[in-house]
Amino acid sequence: MPSEATEACMYRGEEIFSCKQCGDCCKGYGGTYVSQTDVEAIAAYIGTEPERFAERYCTKSGDRLVLVQQESGFCIFWKDRMCGIHPVKPKMCKAWPFIRNLIVDPDNWENMASMCPGIRKGVPAEVVQKCVENMLGSE
Ligand code: SF4
Ligand code: SF4
Repeated sequence: MPSEATEACMYRGEEIFSCKQCGDCCKGYGGTYVSQTDVEAIAAYIGTEPERFAERYCTKSGDRLVLVQQESGFCIFWKDRMCGIHPVKPKMCKAWPFIRNLIVDPDNWENMASMCPGIRKGVPAEVVQKCVENMLGSE
């Protein structure tokens, strides 16, 4: 599920990520956080109210909302090997794997690569940081 940000980085020639469409990032890994903006966008997309969406499709992780998972461990919106809410999927899904945390902790890229087969290993920290900064600059 390459994001717009991912494609932008690849377009700039970084080529440190290429999604294999395996779906692993939609399974487990501590949950998919949703902001209030995400909640409102997804609720509108599936035709319900934000409050009802939060009750039906979210649970709490600390004081934050995360999407619930199916028994299989996949996200509730994972269906037929695709994201069922792709146009409005949460910000963290759109950004993956270029997440803000990597600017201060680029070494985490290697940990992420062990979970995501689309992430190239052995990428210099400064390249990881540059790509993430480029993506965040367009937010
Ligand atoms: S785990 Fe990585 S390679 Fe697999 S679908 Fe997610 S982003 Fe793509
Ligand atoms: S919202 Fe879509 S992209 Fe995000 S974890 Fe769920 S199925 Fe995957």
